[in-house]
Amino acid sequence: LKFKELDISNEILKAIEDMGFEEPTPIQNISIPLIMSGKDITAQAQTGTGKTAAFAIPLLEKIDPNKLAVQAIVLSPTRELTIQIAEEFNRLIKYMDDIKILPIYGGQPIERQISAMRRGVQVIIGTPGRVIDHLGRKTLSMSEVNFVVLDEADQMLDMGFREDLEEILGYAPKERQTVLFSATMPGPILRISKSFQNNPQFVSI
Ligand code: AMP
Repeated sequence: LKFKELDISNEILKAIEDMGFEEPTPIQNISIPLIMSGKDITAQAQTGTGKTAAFAIPLLEKIDPNKLAVQAIVLSPTRELTIQIAEEFNRLIKYMDDIKILPIYGGQPIERQISAMRRGVQVIIGTPGRVIDHLGRKTLSMSEVNFVVLDEADQMLDMGFREDLEEILGYAPKERQTVLFSATMPGPILRISKSFQNNPQFVSI
């Protein structure tokens, strides 16, 4: 398939062209239509397969640019991955003038994150610990979040973030879409999927 055949908006198609992507990768071909159709997915995919764009493109299609509230949260295990994901989002939103994304992670001054959030963002990409920190301070509201991504979920569990994930997902409205990406699918990941996803479609490449 071509990106054009995946029902992607012109702004994103132009950005994808600038990024030099010629055609969707296998995980993008499968995941983009499923996520766009509103389904929860549990996807087994390694780094390097194009998994970031596989969730970022349909996520961005779902953001209401006229609403300045956090509508989507991407949870990632590390500061490095959070920064990489944010860079991919920044390339994808090149032509979407009204979309604001914000990476949040530990080790960065929280005041700076708080003032950026006060100015308004629609997409948060963050590590679980720092997201919990903002929820506790009430500097981040999940009340308008209708899309949650758990990226590298196996790594988040290995790093001891299970309780943080459960707490964050507990704050999110029940009416939401939840997508999970993981390199491996051990029992604890399947349990997270069962507890926090709604009839997920399993995808592996
Ligand atoms: P990821 O698996 O998300 O870490 O992506 C690995 C690398 O592949 C990143 O540098 C992406 O920008 C790039 N990439 C993602 N999708 C495509 C595509 N369809 N064609 C070419 N490169 C891509």
